[in-house]
Amino acid sequence: MRLTIEIDEESGFCYGVIRAVQKAEMKLKESSTLYSLGSIVHNNSELDRLNKIGLEVIDLEQMKNLSDTTVLIRAHGEPPRTYEIARENNISLIDCTCPVVLKLQARIRETYASHNGQIVIFGKIGHAEVNGLVGQANGDAIVVDGVQSLEKIDFTKPICIFSQTTKDPKEYEEICEAIKERIVACGGPVGEFQIHNTICRQVAQRHTNLVAFAESHSVIVFISGKESSNGKVLYDLCKSVNPRSYHIQTRNQIDPQWFQDGDSVGICGATSTPKWQLEGVAKHLEQI
Ligand code: SF4
Repeated sequence: MRLTIEIDEESGFCYGVIRAVQKAEMKLKESSTLYSLGSIVHNNSELDRLNKIGLEVIDLEQMKNLSDTTVLIRAHGEPPRTYEIARENNISLIDCTCPVVLKLQARIRETYASHNGQIVIFGKIGHAEVNGLVGQANGDAIVVDGVQSLEKIDFTKPICIFSQTTKDPKEYEEICEAIKERIVACGGPVGEFQIHNTICRQVAQRHTNLVAFAESHSVIVFISGKESSNGKVLYDLCKSVNPRSYHIQTRNQIDPQWFQDGDSVGICGATSTPKWQLEGVAKHLEQI
């Protein structure tokens, strides 16, 4: 079978993930083990690679039982309570919170301190970044993940909304529009509805580029971990413009029946998909 294969140049780790992985690798050159609070990246293949060189993923309960050691905070960031636990247990932190997330956390803290209304966060419920953001408002923020969860908001009171950095910009716009409509419908203070544009620019740019990439190929093979929230958003985007889009986590999941002779195949992935994995899939397809 003859296939033309192209890897999307924009796909692969984002700045925040590259920075976190590099810091972990640097630390692991001088010590044989390093704890990471949560998965440093939502990609099992990359986690396996890092685990082999000594990165051990722990959860918060495990961290509470550690002391006098070093723990890495991943790019998603953490709520203030995690830093308190580290102080109480004499744990040194390698804080890899992405600067974009740090800025968003600071904006939420400032708004929470000065705003008399509700802080709303558009994001995946339970996602590490979202938990970190909620913590900036002392746990007093409403998380919405779609129009169906808007009933948690009181539309008669002022509202200030922020988005998780990896959400779909179009979906964020739709949520904000739906909130505005409900404020109007119940005679609430429309003028006191503040929208903060906090989607990561790298992610927003990828959305535009990925649509063009998916449209220009007959088949799309999209690689990302199951847990990757950004992966789900970007894969859905590919599927919406190219029905022959397939989501895989490892190259073993590729089914040769997806392809026909002469197809042009585009390979792409999420902000948590390593370049080496995209290249591995390309090589595998060349053999087909
Ligand atoms: S997606 Fe953007 S905000 Fe999130 S870690 Fe990557 S660079 Fe940082």
